[in-house]
Amino acid sequence: MKIWHPFTQEKTAKPPIKIVKAKDSYIYDEFGKKYLDLISSWWVNLHGHANEVIASSIYEQSKTLEHVIFAGFTHSPALDFCSGLQGVLPAIYEKIFFSDNGSTAVEVALKIAYQYWANIACKRKTFLCFDGGYHGDTIGAMSVGRKSGYHDTFEQLLFDSLTVPFPETWDGDDDVEAKESVAIESLSNTLKEFGNDIAAIIIEPLIQGASGMRVCRKTFVESVVDKCRQYGILVIFDEVMTGFGRTGTTFAFEQLNCVPDFVCLSKGITGGFLPLAVTVTTGAIYDKFFREDWKSAFAHGHSYTANPISCAAAVASLKLLKSNECADAIKAINSAHNAGIKLLKENTNIAKSRILGTISAFSIELTGITSEKFKEAAIANGLLLRPLGNTVYMLPPYTTTYEQLLQAYNSIVTIIS
Ligand SMILES: *Cc1c(COP(=O)(O)O)cnc(C)c1O
Repeated sequence: MKIWHPFTQEKTAKPPIKIVKAKDSYIYDEFGKKYLDLISSWWVNLHGHANEVIASSIYEQSKTLEHVIFAGFTHSPALDFCSGLQGVLPAIYEKIFFSDNGSTAVEVALKIAYQYWANIACKRKTFLCFDGGYHGDTIGAMSVGRKSGYHDTFEQLLFDSLTVPFPETWDGDDDVEAKESVAIESLSNTLKEFGNDIAAIIIEPLIQGASGMRVCRKTFVESVVDKCRQYGILVIFDEVMTGFGRTGTTFAFEQLNCVPDFVCLSKGITGGFLPLAVTVTTGAIYDKFFREDWKSAFAHGHSYTANPISCAAAVASLKLLKSNECADAIKAINSAHNAGIKLLKENTNIAKSRILGTISAFSIELTGITSEKFKEAAIANGLLLRPLGNTVYMLPPYTTTYEQLLQAYNSIVTIIS
């Protein structure tokens, strides 16, 4: 038997690189070559690889309680993570539902939103989502991510959802207002026709990840939420990628003048050590499930719901995230992106640059290098980068220093030239 790797056409792909160890922002292959992990190993790593604090909390927890059924039972790591998260979220979030990956965090939000309407005897059957929105690879997540470009094969299998345009923008974009008007008009028309049938809207706030680190303006998200609220539509923010400091604030929605009914979190939640996810919601939503009858309960759960070891990692990671060192590191990464993008603009033909907190992205469409060639050259130069189409992006662990990042930008200048 051989391993079937994710998101890979193995017939044309290079054989996978065997990684034997990792430390801070570097991973090391079997020949001792090191790579700067500029994408946080698919957006999960926060405080560097093999972080000692998280590693020892995992070790200690696994000697005490490795796992226990989470229906009818609870435990300190879950309770501690719940109160830790409560400390960094607005007070309206009163309930936290555990699962184990970003897709399940989204499925849980969709199902709770759907059942919320059923529980108040007011059937709303469909969901609203964005062109380019990506929410995971399970059927429900694909159904609200149908225009992400990843799930075309499964189109017939997906349940109905409505999509509206996403006005992607970048530095020096002159057309942003025109694109936003088109999107808002399309949204208004959709709401007029179907508004009272829509259970919830799902949004990756401020930046769509998988469809190419596509940024939109804050005011756009705010007016979308505002319009949806006029129809009583529930609002789900999928912060699976943007959560835990990536956009410069702990959560992207802190930069917005609106609060969603649901926040989905995963990826960085354990600092990149173990699978875990949560779907956070308000007391107002939960009230409609808090009744005598079993039918009103949320009948959903996974075998490893709130795994204590994962929760212990999440508690440790959150503590690190709240430290002054981490806040400084996040600022330093943002400064390095600013300096690096400037360097790229001066020396290459990159286009559509954008920076949001610790994330930077740009297009190599006009530079003449293909994304496949770029990726190969980056790996050869010891940089772990994985362009999304023509978009090159960086989203490094917070252990990455200003100097390391600028050096990476310098290498990219060389690769493109
Ligand atoms: C990655 C991602 C998901 C899916 O998470 P998995 O853990 O891969 O299932 C969902 N939403 C967003 C915004 C993501 O970036």
